[in-house]
Amino acid sequence: MLKNKILLLKKGTAMNFLKDIFNLFFPDICLCCHKHLTKNETTICLTCRHDLPLTYFSLEEDNLVEKSFYGRIPVENATALFYFLKKGKVQQLIHQLKYNKQQQVGTFIGNWLGAEMAESNRFKKLDCIIPVPLHQKKIKLRGYNQVTAFGESLAKKLTIKYDETILVKVSSTKTQTKKIRFDRWKDVQELFKVQHNSSLVNKHVLLIDDIITTGATLEACCKALSKIEGLKISIACMAYTK
Ligand SMILES: [Zn+2]
Repeated sequence: MLKNKILLLKKGTAMNFLKDIFNLFFPDICLCCHKHLTKNETTICLTCRHDLPLTYFSLEEDNLVEKSFYGRIPVENATALFYFLKKGKVQQLIHQLKYNKQQQVGTFIGNWLGAEMAESNRFKKLDCIIPVPLHQKKIKLRGYNQVTAFGESLAKKLTIKYDETILVKVSSTKTQTKKIRFDRWKDVQELFKVQHNSSLVNKHVLLIDDIITTGATLEACCKALSKIEGLKISIACMAYTK
């Protein structure tokens, strides 16, 4: 018994030693400031983590995300973990997630927001998480939907299901950043379609996306989802643009 324990301990020490050697040559770097991470840091360093602009919207009723949907679509509760500022650390992080194949960023943000939402009484009665879908062409190009890892880790923290088969995108649009909100809404509203919806009658879903700016895409998704009888919708995003 004791001999086995000593052997296991030795094996563990040897593994840690190998890990340390590996890290010496290929150190993990902070995805914000590019400094080497210490043993206790993952994804970003403690200094950058401390600098990220948290909103605490999960705990706040009538927060800015919720207000942005007033008079547009019925949303039960809504939240976003960070404020999104141009050239800020949140932009850097989400850029790494979207264009540099760093899916760990999604997990990192999902775990953080999930813990915050689990503490709040406002997100207790959710049944399922549904992501804003990407068009198949874009998934092929990027290799993944940037909200998948975020959604999966949120689902784990909130102990509910994650399902990306319910809402689909039917055709892609050109970049329309210069158009005003109304025109953009008009262009995207018919692009989302709900499939296998019978399981969601009278349920409460959490619709998720990366950054919320005008909310036009989320609004279009909600319009598509609202065809399901008795469905309630809440929203969670990684970041919110003021
Ligand atoms: Zn850093």
